[in-house]
Amino acid sequence: MASDESKETHLKARKLAITGGRVIDPAQGIDRVADVLISNGKIGAITESSTGDVPREYVQIDASGKIVSPGFIDLHTHLRDPGQEWKETIVSGTRAAARGGFTTVCAMPNTDPVQDTAAIVEDVVRRANSDGAVRVLPIGAISIGQRGKRLAPMGELADAGVIGFSDDGNPVADANLMRQALSYSVEVGLPIINHAEDKKIGAGGVMNAGTVATRLGLSGVPVEAETVMVARDLYLADLTKARLHIPHISTIGSLAVLKSARERGVDVTAEVTPHHLTLSDEWVYGLNGSVTEAVGSEAYDTNTKVNPPLRSRADVEAMIEALKEGLIDIIATDHAPHAATDKICTYNEAAHGINVLETAFSSVFQLVVNGKISLVRLIESLTSSPGSILRHDLGSLKNGFPADVVIIDPNSRWIVDPEEFESKSVNSPLSGVELTGRIVHTIYQGETVFELNGDHIEAGTRS
Ligand SMILES: [Zn+2]
Repeated sequence: MASDESKETHLKARKLAITGGRVIDPAQGIDRVADVLISNGKIGAITESSTGDVPREYVQIDASGKIVSPGFIDLHTHLRDPGQEWKETIVSGTRAAARGGFTTVCAMPNTDPVQDTAAIVEDVVRRANSDGAVRVLPIGAISIGQRGKRLAPMGELADAGVIGFSDDGNPVADANLMRQALSYSVEVGLPIINHAEDKKIGAGGVMNAGTVATRLGLSGVPVEAETVMVARDLYLADLTKARLHIPHISTIGSLAVLKSARERGVDVTAEVTPHHLTLSDEWVYGLNGSVTEAVGSEAYDTNTKVNPPLRSRADVEAMIEALKEGLIDIIATDHAPHAATDKICTYNEAAHGINVLETAFSSVFQLVVNGKISLVRLIESLTSSPGSILRHDLGSLKNGFPADVVIIDPNSRWIVDPEEFESKSVNSPLSGVELTGRIVHTIYQGETVFELNGDHIEAGTRS
């Protein structure tokens, strides 16, 4: 473990060398053991090999046996600030991001007030720049107050720095308003991110419709609630020649309409969450998804309640396959922190949402461990692919890019304990689950913003 003195040195070092790690940078096709040199907050170079021969002025971080990747980019984060600071703040949310290996988070506008004016967006940007541990890029609302009646001032929001528009949490139910939003988005050159859900089809549903819902006596949301909205949005994107980004895709039907739209040349990208890649609706039984003869006291874990809901095993397998082949472009967290009072209640009453940032990488890394997806594709879906959707110089270790770097220990085993989260909230269904692979160091613009230390309890030493 680094002493406090050497830790201070990394934090302030102007020249850093991350040595001996397996450097994976999909944007440049790099996957080799090398040293990454950082100077004045920017990437300097990636060496051809790791010689152990680093110039003296560099402060060295030994990454042997570890993976070195560009810092992750999350296109879908709920920071809850302003307005619900008891759940999360810009400070706690960006610290959680750093602990999860994310150096850029895109903040959804469903705050209070809603981010539907330049003044509110500028306030978030200003506070994020001064207090945030990592970069925060704001997303502006599609409609005023996210009420789905009139368009927000999209040009003004674009000038304030938003990277796209979304009423996330609420779908844009009115197809003609969606068409107008898409048309206008072409003018400002930014994507529309519509929470794809027909609320009327899913009305009253609290989990995925199917045998698990029936057995638990809970109302179900059919997959069609999502699929019909994804299909509508894809046709409207085609009509308007706009850029559409589909958030948290979760159904086999959505993949089918996405595939056919891609083939027609629609300008569309899609994201999937870590939970829709790893957890099925059987997790609502409790006991981490093990199906038991009798429904036990572990069932109805409200931390599994999320929108879109956890789907069937077949949907989960299809999401993995679609991510692997690139039909789904990226992984985004939909980090949705909620207070204890929103979750310590009946399943019907509980708020939708999972606290994801600090478990995201490790949970999806299990797919690599199980041979279901390659490590390079996984890293690409968290770095260069979201970077290219943003069209920013982010998500790669190219010379001159911001020195946003994450170091991963692929062999570290740990048990998720939400009480250790930097997030203000603890609503994770993964509490107590053992995972392999862990973020050990996060560097943002050349400064260490997270380093795993001896205070964190490792699997095997937990009593
Ligand atoms: Zn959503």
